[in-house]
Amino acid sequence: MVETADVVIIGSGIVGSSVAYHLAQAGCTNVLVVEREAHQGKGSTGKSMGGVRAQFSTPVNIQMSRYSIDFFSRFDEVVGHPADYRAHGYLFCATSESHLAYLRANHERQVAAGVNNVEWVSPEEIQAIVPQLRTDDILGGTFCPTDGFVDPHSVMMGFMKNARERGARLWLDTQVRGIAVENDQIAGVDTSRGRVATRVVVNAAGAWAAEVAQMAGAELPVEPLRRQLVPTEPFDQLPKRFPMVIDMSTGFHFRREGKGILLAWNDPAETPGFKTEFDSTFVEKILTRAAARVPVLAEAGVNPRRAWAGLYEMTPDHHAIIGPAPNVKGLYFVNGFSGHGVMHSPASGRIAAELILQGHSDLIDAGQLSVERFAQGKLLEETAIL
Ligand SMILES: Cc1cc2nc3c(=O)[nH]c(=O)nc-3n(C[C@H](O)[C@H](O)[C@H](O)COP(=O)(O)OP(=O)(O)OC[C@H]3O[C@@H](n4cnc5c(N)ncnc54)[C@H](O)[C@@H]3O)c2cc1C
Repeated sequence: MVETADVVIIGSGIVGSSVAYHLAQAGCTNVLVVEREAHQGKGSTGKSMGGVRAQFSTPVNIQMSRYSIDFFSRFDEVVGHPADYRAHGYLFCATSESHLAYLRANHERQVAAGVNNVEWVSPEEIQAIVPQLRTDDILGGTFCPTDGFVDPHSVMMGFMKNARERGARLWLDTQVRGIAVENDQIAGVDTSRGRVATRVVVNAAGAWAAEVAQMAGAELPVEPLRRQLVPTEPFDQLPKRFPMVIDMSTGFHFRREGKGILLAWNDPAETPGFKTEFDSTFVEKILTRAAARVPVLAEAGVNPRRAWAGLYEMTPDHHAIIGPAPNVKGLYFVNGFSGHGVMHSPASGRIAAELILQGHSDLIDAGQLSVERFAQGKLLEETAIL
């Protein structure tokens, strides 16, 4: 007998799990999530830094963050599982007039989108937040106290657990090998467990989304880009609690992770590709930037074997692609988060579920995130990428 589902979601990371949750919440429970790995979280979700922030530069990203951060603050109660949301804030530190102008323009857009708690901070105030920071070249910055961190794995598990309690199914260890399209309409999904008949497929395949779209004959401009994170050994020379700190002069940023510090930096020399091995030469590159901004970090111990790499899923304008595929009826994209898929997972799951069930989203004008924007030259440029 052929399996059937009202909706098949390809990929069980934080995005696929959120779509399953939002569909099930809306009463659409005949949902099947197909995941090729034996466990959830083996893609980018399990590699993420868990940062959530409303400090973006475009209205649509600010709106999605605002909704998502509010959702995270209520997640445990609403979803019945911990998100481990910690409102420790994000602190952007400017070292040039152009950084200040950029923060000023962003601030205006944040206020216009209803984010009213982003504060201007002086170099002295920055110094008071993290006394070990070198501030002699810092001109000022912005701090948003409701930005912070979540536990991406726990959020993903919570969304999926709740969806499954309402009837959604999850097939692990099951690879999607093909997508059947008849007369430009989705007809089914071919998996390593056999054919599933369905009229709706959601592509939530993260960095692998372009190859999944291709299975249905659709084009999707999503490219994998390696990101590497370096945790230090236990380190008590920085405060026990402090925000995510972003040094705008280099893009180096860091936060506390348990007893140690998690160091991040976007290497501009990185090139697209499915590279998931950690490059040990990265340790010296990041420690140079770390010690330049936080001199005591030169004394931090680092074991390269505890460092890791994962994939960002980049689009040409660094914004997500959410919505129906133009030429294949029943195929939906929820892809290309360009490094923001964890923080935007509540909003993207809701938007996708609304598009599938009612054809429009009540949360945002979803048309601006459609894949057609690339062909139409209506790109959205987000410059606040970490
Ligand atoms: C180092 C690093 C740090 C990051 N930091 C942050 C951060 O601070 N904040 C933030 O918001 N975001 C961050 N991100 C980005 C974030 O992790 C991603 O945007 C997010 O996890 C994407 O979720 P996803 O569910 O779309 O993809 P994934 O978690 O990759 O899930 C996709 C799933 O699809 C499955 N799949 C693919 N192809 C198939 C197939 N053919 N058949 C069956 N299953 C398939 C995969 O196995 C995978 O499990 C970071 C990413 C990295 C790598």
